[in-house]
Amino acid sequence: MLDYLGMEEDLSSEEKLVRDEARRFVEEQVKPDIGEHFENGTFPMDLIPKMGELGFYAPNLDGYGLPGLGDRAYGLLMQELEAGDSGLRSMASVQGSLVIYPIHAYGSEAQKEEWLPALGSGEAVGCFGLTEPQHGSNPAGMETKAEQDADGYVLNGSKTWITNSPIADVAVVWARDVSAEDSPVRGFLVETDRDGVTTNKIDDKLSMRASVTGEIGLDDVRVPEENVLPGVEGMKGPLSCLTQARYGIAWGVVGAARDSFEEALQYSKDREQFGGPIARFQLQQGKLAEMATQITNAQLQAHRLAELKERGDLEHQQVSMAKRHNVRVARDVTRTAREMLGGNGITTDYSPMRHMSNIETVYTYEGTDDIHTLVIGSELTGIPAFE
Ligand code: FAD
Repeated sequence: MLDYLGMEEDLSSEEKLVRDEARRFVEEQVKPDIGEHFENGTFPMDLIPKMGELGFYAPNLDGYGLPGLGDRAYGLLMQELEAGDSGLRSMASVQGSLVIYPIHAYGSEAQKEEWLPALGSGEAVGCFGLTEPQHGSNPAGMETKAEQDADGYVLNGSKTWITNSPIADVAVVWARDVSAEDSPVRGFLVETDRDGVTTNKIDDKLSMRASVTGEIGLDDVRVPEENVLPGVEGMKGPLSCLTQARYGIAWGVVGAARDSFEEALQYSKDREQFGGPIARFQLQQGKLAEMATQITNAQLQAHRLAELKERGDLEHQQVSMAKRHNVRVARDVTRTAREMLGGNGITTDYSPMRHMSNIETVYTYEGTDDIHTLVIGSELTGIPAFE
């Protein structure tokens, strides 16, 4: 596997173990039929508890049965899962960074005891409801509201583009608490079998096909006070979760790019034209050299983020830079790899076009490329250009 600057030689034995276990899991349990799932628009549901057993959900958090590994191990895991498919990494990202993380960081003791062991083992599935039909890049404009009465809260509104909502047991829903002064955003744990909750599936996606995506409709949904996340108020709640997930994405997409590169490299040695392997042509070698260099640059950013995160110094704008850069790399590399595979490259028999199509979603979700550009610009100049 491409590791041009030998960064993986410096991994701890625990990190190597996590990487190898995830790599084996992807080779044996994901790669054989992920192309078929992509074609059919299905997620391999049998892998949900298996990933739980292997400790793939929120491995960097501890307590409540969670593995308590380091942040680099978490990143390596995301990289290996996304080498299988971005849908698989999305499952682990949402469950770990967007559902387990907020309950772990902001939940009450009762909420932690109720949900963390079940989510960590994959017995329960969670989803994260932030985006709304009219509010994507600007989630602070959200219209979903929670009104307090004597029995708790009543939720009304709708969320869309929610990974896993049709298969989730619980949704972390972000809504404005209109009963409080200035209507702060608060997090609510909404069991999906409550009256008034609907989770329609979004079909006809041309990207991230091996992942379940849906809406969340909330029509006078009653939740008790105990379902509010007590430890956070305001946009800091959802944004802090997104920083965790984006860190995983910055690592994950390197896996998609690396897998596409490896496939193109092998193909170029096997495929013969004009009396020999296409790998002997300088044009093809130029493409391979460029891909390897780009992937190496992306790996450097990911490893540096891990160092900063492990010592508690990671800033959200640094995550923005790496998310933006590494997704761009993956977008370029998967396309070049696809092109090197000629006609065969447009089928699901090979991974690059599937990765390429998935990356269009990754380019858009968790902050679009444009939004991360503005985050960096705002940090550099001190002038926010969002509006
Ligand atoms: P818009 O915000 O409408 O943006 C449209 C275009 O305008 C983009 O190119 C954008 O970059 C650009 N733009 C917007 N504002 C600016 C600006 N100020 N300056 C310059 N350009 C701008 N959301 C969740 O809450 N939970 C999930 O689990 C989840 N999963 C997803 C899964 C999939 C498969 C997809 C596709 C999306 C998912 N999302 C999820 C939603 C995702 O985060 C949003 O799609 C994303 O934030 C962009 O919002 P939007 O689609 O409304 O685009």
